Amino acid sequence: AKERGRNHYQLYTPDQGKRVGKKMMLANGLRTALANDEFFLQYQPQFNLETSEIVGVEALIRWRHPEFGLISPAEFIPVAEETGIIVDIGKWVLKTACKQNKEWQEAGLPNVNMAVNVSVKQFQHRDFIKGIKKVLTETRLDSRYLELEMTESIMQNSEYLHGVLSELREMGVKLSMDDFGTGYSSLSLLRYLPIDNLKIDKSFIDGIQVDENAVSIIKTIIDMGMNLNMNIIAEGVENKEQAIFLKKNNCNLAQGYLFSKPLPAGKIRRILEGRVVG
Ligand code: C2E
Ligand code: CA
Ligand code: CA
Ligand code: CA
Repeated sequence: AKERGRNHYQLYTPDQGKRVGKKMMLANGLRTALANDEFFLQYQPQFNLETSEIVGVEALIRWRHPEFGLISPAEFIPVAEETGIIVDIGKWVLKTACKQNKEWQEAGLPNVNMAVNVSVKQFQHRDFIKGIKKVLTETRLDSRYLELEMTESIMQNSEYLHGVLSELREMGVKLSMDDFGTGYSSLSLLRYLPIDNLKIDKSFIDGIQVDENAVSIIKTIIDMGMNLNMNIIAEGVENKEQAIFLKKNNCNLAQGYLFSKPLPAGKIRRILEGRVVG
């Protein structure tokens, strides 16, 4: 059977035994990783293309396994989602990220947004909002500096979705649609949901110099986002030409190796001390 979501663990691949084995190993390891403090966060800066100011960071989880070393989230997050442990991992990420942002603010550094990735499984959990409120209370971070990144997989025309997003919006939390353009979201639905930011998926940014279709899709996304009063964030910007194109076409924010890789908190602190980069 082919499993839902990403295709790292499709069971029909030739080395199926190996993959199933690895998946079991990951599933078991995830349970102890939380308890043993094997996770940590890195933060990738997001910049305003006009002013070159850092406006936020995206928290990205890392797993240092005692035997196998660093394991990519692209590999273990899908397993965490399948086993349900993503709910507890997600709580840890939220708490750690909010705490870190508050720490920078208390050190007198400029205020920036903390963007946190949220899986659909977390989002569907009935205590999700309660958990967000708890973290904001415990860390004393102002809700306006928390941003939740969700992929299009959450998009559905349901009262539940609208209700949760609206409540988050009322709380002052910002909402971003991640990997935009890769899913199956209906554009008309987007209009009715309280989304603050659209993140253009890296696959389109990769196409800027080589693929006319990617270019017209990017222009359409920017146009639409602007009409809906959203910020547009380009992800995976790797070279100057891409940045120039994006700026020229009114994309206001960008993130990618051209500006900075994901970094440990201490290095972000130094960027915040300088604030303007580039
Ligand atoms: P994403 O949310 O789309 O995050 C962007 C990914 O692209 C990150 O990979 C980042 O390191 C990478 N990236 C950023 N700029 C560039 C660039 O210029 N070039 C290239 N080649 N890559 C770039 P990472 O950290 O390995 O994360 C992979 C995915 O794992 C994320 O994709 C996200 O879906 C998931 N993930 C990471 N952390 C969390 C988390 O705390 N919770 C959840 N639910 N998912 C997470
Ligand atoms: Ca993301
Ligand atoms: Ca993304
Ligand atoms: Ca992506």
